[in-house]
This record gives sequence, structure tokens and C-alpha cells, in this order.
Amino acid sequence: MDGLEIRHQRDLPARPGRHAPWPAWLEVGTPARTAVEQIGVDALWTHQVVAADALMAGRHVVLTTGTASGKSLAYLLPAATAVVGAGRADDDAVRWRRRPATSLYLAPTKALAHDQARVCAELAVPGWRVATVDGDTDPADRQWARDHAHHVLTNPDLLHASLLPNHTRWASFLRSLQFVVVDESHRYRGVFGAQVAAVLRRLRRIAAHYRADPAFAVLSATSAEPIATAAALTGIAADDLTLVDDDGSVRGAVRISLARSDLAPETAAAELMATRVRAGEQVLTFVPSRRLAEEVARSAETSVSAGPAGAEPGSVLAYRAGYLANDRRLIERGLADGTVRGVAATNALELGVDLAGLDTVVLCGYPGSRAAFWQQAGRAGRRGAAADVVLIARANPLDAYLLDHPAVLFDQPVETAVLDPASPSVLGPQLAAAAQELPLRPGDERWFGPGTWALVARLTERGLLRRRPDGWFWTVPQRAVDRISLRNTEAHTIDIVEEPTGRVLGTVGLDAADLVVHPGAVYLHQGDSYLCDDDGWDVEAGEVIVRAARPGYLTQPVVDAEVSPGSPHRERTLGTGRLAYGSARVSSRVTGFLRRDELTGRVWDTTPLDRPERVLSTAATILTVTAEAATPRAGSPRAGTLGAPSPAERSELSRPRFDAGIHALEHLITGVLPAIVANDRYDIGSHSWIEDTGAAAIAVFDRRPGSGFAAGGYDRAEAWLTAARERIEECSCGNGCPACILAAGCGSSRALDKGTARRLLATLVPNSADPGRAGAPGDTGSR
Ligand SMILES: [Zn+2]
Ligand SMILES: [Zn+2]
Repeated sequence: MDGLEIRHQRDLPARPGRHAPWPAWLEVGTPARTAVEQIGVDALWTHQVVAADALMAGRHVVLTTGTASGKSLAYLLPAATAVVGAGRADDDAVRWRRRPATSLYLAPTKALAHDQARVCAELAVPGWRVATVDGDTDPADRQWARDHAHHVLTNPDLLHASLLPNHTRWASFLRSLQFVVVDESHRYRGVFGAQVAAVLRRLRRIAAHYRADPAFAVLSATSAEPIATAAALTGIAADDLTLVDDDGSVRGAVRISLARSDLAPETAAAELMATRVRAGEQVLTFVPSRRLAEEVARSAETSVSAGPAGAEPGSVLAYRAGYLANDRRLIERGLADGTVRGVAATNALELGVDLAGLDTVVLCGYPGSRAAFWQQAGRAGRRGAAADVVLIARANPLDAYLLDHPAVLFDQPVETAVLDPASPSVLGPQLAAAAQELPLRPGDERWFGPGTWALVARLTERGLLRRRPDGWFWTVPQRAVDRISLRNTEAHTIDIVEEPTGRVLGTVGLDAADLVVHPGAVYLHQGDSYLCDDDGWDVEAGEVIVRAARPGYLTQPVVDAEVSPGSPHRERTLGTGRLAYGSARVSSRVTGFLRRDELTGRVWDTTPLDRPERVLSTAATILTVTAEAATPRAGSPRAGTLGAPSPAERSELSRPRFDAGIHALEHLITGVLPAIVANDRYDIGSHSWIEDTGAAAIAVFDRRPGSGFAAGGYDRAEAWLTAARERIEECSCGNGCPACILAAGCGSSRALDKGTARRLLATLVPNSADPGRAGAPGDTGSR
């Protein structure tokens, strides 16, 4: 296929759709039934009916069917029917002087809430009033939503910072609250997930205060443990959640190919897209950065216009963050009416709900999680026609591992969303916010869990709460919610501001600021590069100034780090090594940076910096191995598949070699961790060193305290290190390559030794319980 080496193919057969009879409450002539028929739906899929019926009966539902399976109707029909029923809207309300049923829809981003609002507008149930409320909504519209809307679409940020703190103004809405929809719930993971979990608990508590008992609809991609995840997110007992996961929707056949190319992956992707577009197909290509979206689109477009078919210009477009909603709509409409033939989109981009039904979807690199992979792959497939999904691997340990172990991708469930709602660093401030909404009283632990009162005592000691006869009150003049950032746990964040536009490109925590935007750093943002001003560093003002630049080099901080483990919460042996999980203090200081050639990676020079020491108190998983255990001996089973050790290997490992091995191992295991735990590369940090005892240690820690990824690694260490072992044994390079032990982000001058890393792994996970090739998860039961 077009210069690609296809390593694996998997065919997903076409699936006929299964319909179910209309629910009794949706009889012919009811407004919701008429509305849904008018958008061309003449029968509902089985899962839509099962979920809608359960919600209508007041049960909590977890709905995990595929992309484009029509999850929205499953809650829109009950929500609208509860209001307009058999067509006599508001009759009861008038009689009882209260609003009819209200419903609240939560999307992880504003853009998704707006997409969903469009779905509601198309459905257009007469008499059912829908409003979108977010940070951009003007006060008059917000007030209308508060006082008159039946269905409010928003995001957790607004719920947290505005709706709940002002709940008295939302009282009539909350009193009638019958449904809460949590869409794309797999996106709530790590610290953000823990924060949203606390916000949903606050919502349930406030709703109960207004005597409402809303049914929750939790919508997510298929996941390993959908019920447990939804229970952790909402605080609703697992027994009270109804799982609907039997997808009744029709699906065309899809062929998924895993491929590699000798060309750069983006070049191969652009060529494939051009070929397919010339053949008359519609193609969507996912790339890792904004710059690549532009480049791939441009290159494919050039190739298409030059080709024999001579497609009209403008038929291949980039679709990326920063585009306004209108531009995105135009692209989506162009795809729908056929004028747009190809789109290159960034991985991280929120695609509109309508963007589906493509002939070919190309993934330029693995998007980092199975959840994201299936979401993107789900954009392929027209009714009744075959479609293609092609993943082109990039040169990193994770992509390389998946090419060798396609079963990990195809046959394992989507990653469990890791979140820890009990994390004190999250729950403490959230309890303060809850106390400001309504004083905390005995019994409130049913919302916030058994850790509640210990944290309340701490907040009281610190003078933030005061105990009175009727509960614990917030005593400080400021709003408690303003001390919480849902999407970032660091109290002090710094804005990265582009000059001369003044646009805020992003924010970064104080400790990470030294790493990514130190004076003189080249800052990469969605594929564009910027140079940090030497004198634009103004931590006091909370901002760093950067300017668009392409200086021909990249920078890499040189970090002097130290990890001091606290006493471990959990500990066990792992082969010849030891594994511990617990709190840790990570202190780091940026002492300078390297300039590396943008193309070759060669180091140009080193510039010293004098940055203060930063301390991060977080959780870490620490792996300890001794040189002795790692030294192969003649006849020792530890030599494993490696054959008889050479005389050189038989002697004790030299300290430099041991250090180089442990350093290589550090890179390798952090590189493959996302195959096991759904983290992004930046969620975790790592450090390795040799202790005074001569043993070596690798610490893998959460960069954001409370995110739970280090714990996930501890729990699934066998699967994790087995994946690492397989990756290094299967890598055909000589002394190491980016697909095994070389890490682009490493600024250390320490050596790397692939052979020693490989031997170390063989002593840690001697029996390869292959989770990939066997086709069965080898790691079940650990989480
Ligand atoms: Zn390699
Ligand atoms: Zn390194």
C-alpha cells in the first residue's frame, strides 16, 4: 500500500443494525417522537431504547456504545419527553407553580457543548427550551437559561465556578433537575478527573438540598471497567448504575492496518491521503501537531492537484485548534456535501460530532491511548460500504511496541480512566467549596467519602472553616472555588504569552516553567516554535513572554534532580528487584540548557542557568535493583534467553555500565507506560540514580500530585515491565534507537546501555507473560 509496509491487518466485519420497538412513552404524535421522525429516524437502535427507558424510570445509566452510535438520542428523548410529554407542555408546572423537568448536560469542553447544542437545535422538539451556558455567555442569556431553559448545556468548569456557588439563583432549575448527562466521561482522568468527581458530588449534594434526585447518564467510550469508573466519577454506588454496552447500531466493514514506512510518517501519511483522494475517497488524517496538520494538508493538496484526476483546489484542508467554530462548521459541511475531499486534523482536536463516515482514516502515529485510537478510527465507515483505517507508526517505544503486539491495541479494552476522588490535595479544597455552598453537616460523608471529616478537621485548624452548632462554615471573605483550578493543580501557574499579539498560548506550573520556558528556551506549542525572551521571564507577574521563531535548534534543560522517597505505602518484590509505591519529594533545579540542532539532534552548546530549586511533593513508584542481581552468572537461569554470558558479563557490572543500563531502562519504561496506564507523556516524570548502597533506583512520579498514574504503574508492574522487555528484545537496532532507549527529552549527559537494560529487565520479569501476542490480556486482575 503506497510505500507502506503493512505489519498487521484486522477486519471488523459489517454489523447489521438491530432496532427495538418505540418505548410506550414515545407513542406516535408525541412531540419528541414527531421531532425525531422529522430528522429522518424512523426506528431506534436497541441500546438507545434500553438506555432511554432506564433513564425515564429514574435509573442511573452508563452508556458505552461506539462512536456515532447515536448515544445522544438515548438521553435527549427522555429529557424532552419529561418536559413536553404528550404535548401539554408546562400544564403540571402551572398547576404546581414549579418548572417542569430540567436537565443538565456536561461536556469536557465548550466546543463539545456547542456541538451538542446544534444536535438539540436540529431535533427541535417544540416547547423544549435548550440553552448553552459557559464562560462566554452574556449575563442576559445566562439569566434566561437560569429562569426558563429546560435543558442546559455546559461544562464542569462553569458548574464548579458559577452554578454551584450561586445555587440559590439556580434554585428553580435545580429543584426540577431530573437528568444529568456526563458526556465523554473517559476524558475525566488524572487530577482533572478527581476534580470533576468532587464537583459532581457537590452537585448531587446541592440537588438533594433542593429535594431533587436526578438520574445520571454517563456516556463514554468502551472501557475496561465502565461501572467502576462511572462510580468513581459520580460517587453513585456501582449497584445503582445500569450498564448499557450492547451496541445495536449498524456498522459498515472496516479494515484496520498497522503500518510503518521508511519515509517520515507525515510524508507517508500525506502521500497516502493524496492517493486516496485521487481515487475519489474522502480521507481524514490525524497528525500530532498543528504545524504538521498544515504541512500534511498542503503537501497532499499539491499532490492531488498535480495528479491526473486534477481535483479542484481547496479540496484538502487542515483542521486544527485555533480555528473558530465557523471555520470548523464550514469544513464539516464541505465534507458532508462532498466539496472537501481530505482533512488533516490535529490529534488533540475536538472534532465535531458530525465528522464521521469517512472512506479512509489515517493516523500519523499512535494517538497515545486505545480510547483515542478507537475514537479516531470510529470516524471511518459509511453505511453499507467498506472503509479503511491506517495507523502509520512513529519512531518511539510505544508505537514500536504496538506494531509488535497488535493484540494490545485490538483485543484489550480501552484504558480504565485513572482518577482518585479521595486524593486529599483535591478533596480538601473541594470540601471548602462545598462548605461555602452549604455548611457541612454530619451525614455529608455520604457524598464525599470516609476521608471527609479528617480533612474538615484540617481545614478547621487552618481557620478556613469554623464549627458552629449547625455545621462547619466557610469563614474567609474570598470565594473558596477561586482557590481551585479544575484543570491544573498547581496553585501558581504562569501564562505563556505570545508577543506581539498578547495571545496566551498556554499555562504552565511554576516548577514546570523552569523546564519548558526557561530564559532562552525554544517553546513548542502545537507544532509551532517560539523563543522565550531572556528578559520576558517575569514570575512575579505570572507570565513569560515568547515570540514566534524558528531558530534552527531546539533546547533541552539540564536538570539537577533528586528524589527522596517517603515511607512506602505499598511494597513488594519484582523478580530480583523491589518495587515500592508511596509519597516522594522531588527536588529539581535547572542548571542550564543544551541547544540541539533541529534536524540532526546534535548538541551545539551548553548555556548555564541559575534557577532556584523547586520541590514537588507527589506520589512515586520506585524500582530498585542491585548490580549483583543483574549480573549474569554461568548456568544461571537469569541469563534467560540471552545465551551463555560472555566472560566480560560474568564479572560484576562496572558502575558506569550499571548506571548506563539503569538510565536506558528509565527511558524505556517511561516510554511504554502509556500502553498500560492511560497517561500522556507529560503526566509523569522520572529519575534514576545509583544509591550509596550500590543499588540502582528508578523513580516514576506523578507530575501533578493526585493524578494516580504512578499508582497505576505499581499495580500493573508485571504487564508494564513485560511490555518494556518485549520492546527492547524486539528492537532490531544495535545500540539503541528512539524506538527503544533514546528519549528525545533527555538532557542528561549520562551514558545509555541497551544490553545492560535488557539484562536487567530479564531479571525483573523473567517469564514473559505476553499480553499482546497471546491475544488475551496477561495482566487482568491487577486493577
Ligand atoms: Zn532500538
Ligand atoms: Zn535520560
